[in-house]
Amino acid sequence: MDPAGFNELGISELSLAAIEALGWETPTPIQAKAIPSGLEGVDVVGIAQTGTGKTAAFMIPALERIRSRKGLQVLVLCPTRELAQQVSDDTQGLAKGTEIRAEAIFGGVGYGPQIEALEQGFEVIVATPGRFIDHMQSKRVDLSGVGYLVLDEADRMLDMGFRPQIEQVLKGMPRERQTMLFSATMPHGVHDLALRITQEAIWIEATPPGTTAEGIEEVFYSVKPDKKPDLLLELVSAPDWDQVLVFTRTKAGADMLESRLQREGVATDVMHSNRHMKQRTRALDRFATGKVRVLVATDVAQRGLDVEGISHVVNYDVPLDPEDYVHRIGRTGRAGAKGTAVTFVTAADLGAMKSLEHRLGRTIERLHLPDFDYAGAPQSEGGTTASRGKKARSPHGIGSRSASDLSPEELEALLDPGP
Ligand code: AMP
Repeated sequence: MDPAGFNELGISELSLAAIEALGWETPTPIQAKAIPSGLEGVDVVGIAQTGTGKTAAFMIPALERIRSRKGLQVLVLCPTRELAQQVSDDTQGLAKGTEIRAEAIFGGVGYGPQIEALEQGFEVIVATPGRFIDHMQSKRVDLSGVGYLVLDEADRMLDMGFRPQIEQVLKGMPRERQTMLFSATMPHGVHDLALRITQEAIWIEATPPGTTAEGIEEVFYSVKPDKKPDLLLELVSAPDWDQVLVFTRTKAGADMLESRLQREGVATDVMHSNRHMKQRTRALDRFATGKVRVLVATDVAQRGLDVEGISHVVNYDVPLDPEDYVHRIGRTGRAGAKGTAVTFVTAADLGAMKSLEHRLGRTIERLHLPDFDYAGAPQSEGGTTASRGKKARSPHGIGSRSASDLSPEELEALLDPGP
């Protein structure tokens, strides 16, 4: 059966035209489920990660239910500046042909332009909680007309410690309102919040928590820690690695990797919270427009980074939190496109990798390239072209090597010799 088209969801001709101008043909599953309820004024709790089309899922009904030039009616709170900007940009696309005005408000930039902007009046504000509270306390925003509240990436907002700010905004909100909460995962804190702030909401799940968007091929490469840069260089030299987002655990690690890649002639930029907003925006622009092929980022870039056509995401360091893994790799394979997510796994990451697979409920293919592997371990199970012919050691020949020299399989065999 064909999935329902946008024109079957009850949205106006104006919105349909905006959607057509964006080139979207079919609603994503979360859109097909959330838009009709949203239009009826029903509260929605959506379990959906970025990449599922959740922004339009909450914004299309919001735009349909508000009036142009009547001041603030829709407030979206989200965790990061990048996401705020992205949601605001998407809103402008979806509001095309109307006089609805949308603005992103976030910290880390001067107050002056934001104060001037706020004086103009916006129907939709997409804000990070901290800066929004500042404006609220200075009475620069009036919440009395807000009939539509969205908490986007609620799990991440709570992780980032925004609960007090969220509570403060909720206190200042009219009781009569429609509320939507979207979250990639549903830990207890988010679940409780969702129950408290919504009324008779419908709960929609785009993908079960912990699963990834379809169309993403996932692989683990086992690698010696000191061979990680070389492995990355080897991989990015493949012609189909055309837009590569690399995540490192630390800012220093990101900077070092950027220098190394640059030295080897790979056009690279870096993005983390020590860079100010201008540098981050510039890095994103250069990456999005293809001026640099590789963007090295810490988790700051993980959410809200919406660049089309990312072919590969590399977890240069295994994410500490399985949810971070899901969010990071969600940067590729967006809205139906194909993508590959590669994770570098050292012997020390074996435990983290196991628990990641356990949480995801699936086993991820492991590849070994003899030149980079802990132990020049067995040839790839999946077959790979990058082998340089170094002889793989016998999996039994562990001898007196240290744990960091062992492949995951060897280490596993030692820890759990089996029957
Ligand atoms: P989101 O999950 O809202 O961040 O959306 C992920 C990406 O998918 C964004 O680049 C959207 O522009 C795009 N997108 C959203 N809905 C659709 C759709 N129905 N068809 C094609 N692309 C879409």
